[in-house]
Amino acid sequence: MKRAFLLAASLLATATVTEAAAEKTVPPMAKPFGLVLHGGAGVIRRQDMSPELEAQYRAKLTEARDAGYAVLANGGTALDAVIAAVTLLENSPLFNAGKGAVLDSEGICELDASIMDGATQAAGAVAGVQHIKNPIKLARDVMEKSPHVMLIGQGAEQFARQLGYELVSNDYFKTDMRRKQLERAKAEEKTGRKAGTMLEEHLDGNDPNGFLRVNEHKYGTVGCVALDRAGNLAAGTSTGGMTNKKFGRVGDSPIIGAGTYANNATCAVSATGWGEFFIRVGVARDIAAQMEYKGVPLAVAAESVLAKVAALKGDGGVIAIDRAGHVAMPFNTAGMYRGFRFSDGTQTIEIFGAAK
Ligand code: ASP
Repeated sequence: MKRAFLLAASLLATATVTEAAAEKTVPPMAKPFGLVLHGGAGVIRRQDMSPELEAQYRAKLTEARDAGYAVLANGGTALDAVIAAVTLLENSPLFNAGKGAVLDSEGICELDASIMDGATQAAGAVAGVQHIKNPIKLARDVMEKSPHVMLIGQGAEQFARQLGYELVSNDYFKTDMRRKQLERAKAEEKTGRKAGTMLEEHLDGNDPNGFLRVNEHKYGTVGCVALDRAGNLAAGTSTGGMTNKKFGRVGDSPIIGAGTYANNATCAVSATGWGEFFIRVGVARDIAAQMEYKGVPLAVAAESVLAKVAALKGDGGVIAIDRAGHVAMPFNTAGMYRGFRFSDGTQTIEIFGAAK
């Protein structure tokens, strides 16, 4: 009930959440555990999505959420829960991570991912990998099996090979939908129309389910934040980045402190949105820092940091959880694929924003 109130507040990205209101959200259970996940934010509107497609998204989000929850319910760690949920989303062509990732300007999928352990503040990340089926797993191996935090491109893949990873062809990640998106992005670039502008005429009546329309304007990164029975937090994020990206562009998702952050003392955060803005604001760490330095409640910190992104004219959203099991899922886009499940029985899967 109290969590529901917090969520209702967080749906209104521009709403002011007072500290007094957020403080009312202390959950009743003594030792909560659970997780929150997202599958990207963007122009995701009910009128653009067929009931069948919506059902597919809901089913996959539910499957990933419940897989992560099962890990926690069985006494597993927050890190393992994050890996379980994100791996399932990476393997689904519906989301912009792993299979179904967006294409860069060369028509190649270049993948970024990161993970952080709130108990130790250990972190791992990979960027620009082209042949790793589940980048979130490699990010974890960077964290646990290397002395480094971030490995990129061929070096990251060499590290994976040493660990015995089977590398996959880049074609494994590509889908027709993403190929079409790249074609449209290039056409828009040529005609000088704003990148990402939705051009109905390009769809040629060829999109009965609204799949292309729905995905045209969404970022589609996936992420998960979890709180385990031991009270440890973890966060992970995985993405293909942004369609038609060039010159080895890397967004916020693999940047610790921007797209991902976890610290037991404060919170765990995974972001999605226009990565350049999330890097400039230092979104994930800023949310934690507000809690750490000023004792600001999670929901207030998350809202205020997203407002900084909006002030720079960036958009997107975050999911965040603190040690007491408070949840925040604010976004300033039309929708965000998102959901959670907790040991007090509360659970949800949501896609669209509040009607405006
Ligand atoms: N934040 C990601 C990036 O900029 C994109 C996304 O969230 O979908 O690479």
